[in-house]
Amino acid sequence: MAVQVDMNLEEAVLQFILENPGSLKSVISEAFRLSDYRLHRVFRHINRELDGCCLRHDATNGVWVVNIDSGMCLGHEWVGAGNGGFRQCHEKPLFSDGRCYKHSEFENPELTAFKRRLTYLIGPCDPNPWHLTQLSLDAVEELFQTLRRISPMTQKDFDERIRLLKVIISARAWLKWKDLMRQRGAGNRIPPEFEQRHRSSSVNTFEYSIRKYYVILEISPDSTKEEALRAWKRLAKLYHPDSSAGKASDEEKMKEINYAKDRIFRFRRWD
Ligand SMILES: [Zn+2]
Repeated sequence: MAVQVDMNLEEAVLQFILENPGSLKSVISEAFRLSDYRLHRVFRHINRELDGCCLRHDATNGVWVVNIDSGMCLGHEWVGAGNGGFRQCHEKPLFSDGRCYKHSEFENPELTAFKRRLTYLIGPCDPNPWHLTQLSLDAVEELFQTLRRISPMTQKDFDERIRLLKVIISARAWLKWKDLMRQRGAGNRIPPEFEQRHRSSSVNTFEYSIRKYYVILEISPDSTKEEALRAWKRLAKLYHPDSSAGKASDEEKMKEINYAKDRIFRFRRWD
């Protein structure tokens, strides 16, 4: 779309961006046949003219945003390259940062407190299920119940809550499984629903397949080489077909244990 420049170039550009706030830089360049360099120079002049408006270069999106209506959400939305790029969101601002549910950076104070508590419990890290398995099943259950009661205030809260719930649910499944194993004795295989959960919630299938081998050896993923060896020996004694102690002796199980040990040692680069 070429724009006829029948007035002063700066005025024309100013009018264009006021009419199309959020346009991609490339759209403006093309409309006025300006190089990036010349466009920058024009904008430098225009900045002074924009009384009460905010002209902002959004580096991630390569877009110039003019927030002209403070009665609307200050976030912007992608409307497609064909429509110029970004437009100011038309929702009502609901939060103190002048943004709507979807765009607000506001966080429910309860969620902030919850995250602070989590950091206190497991240390400053991006929480994953294994961090949480250091805690007791009761503690994890309590975290789950607390988080479940927090209602999200913004889209950001909503996404964060889902992410944390997934981590906690996964840790809870693992702790429950360990508990079950303790009750049943070491002879049982992984309950199929537990395997299923891991597979379906898997982001990195490789990591989760390694995880399975830790479960088979009944050790935690941060175990030392010595701990892994000890666990393997203990299980081997239990399952070795020639073992006298092997009341549960089972050739298939023995193969599984050996394979798990093999995979973990290879993965951790032990020899
Ligand atoms: Zn919005």
